[in-house]
Amino acid sequence: MTESRHTEPRHTGRCECGAVRFETHGPLRPVIACHCGQCRRTSGHFWAATAVMREGLTMIADRGLRWFASSETARRGFCAYCGSSLFWDHESADTISIGAGTLDAPTGMQVARNIFVKDKGDYYDIDCRAEQFEGDG
Ligand SMILES: [Zn+2]
Ligand SMILES: [Zn+2]
Repeated sequence: MTESRHTEPRHTGRCECGAVRFETHGPLRPVIACHCGQCRRTSGHFWAATAVMREGLTMIADRGLRWFASSETARRGFCAYCGSSLFWDHESADTISIGAGTLDAPTGMQVARNIFVKDKGDYYDIDCRAEQFEGDG
């Protein structure tokens, strides 16, 4: 372990029951809120996620972690015990997305973008100040 690793930003997070726990090292991407149908169904509302380089994600507990193949190229990580949505993992990305709500406070982050707003649910308005994109932004 190098000295720089100790000084990198570090965050911790977990699912609701604690059967999935993780920590991150290195900078986290600003939060992107996705309003597409897949994200709305798997999250129960819309999915807001940060992201970290793959090597920056360390699992502390993964007893509950299961993966759902949501497309041919991406999978979603959730807890088999409590149902928390935690990760979104695209096979060609250098980063892995982490549900912003699973991080312990303070996150120090802000929502930077709303994407797939054309697919948002009809029961809410996006009153967030962050930019809105019809598609993947
Ligand atoms: Zn859990
Ligand atoms: Zn989405």
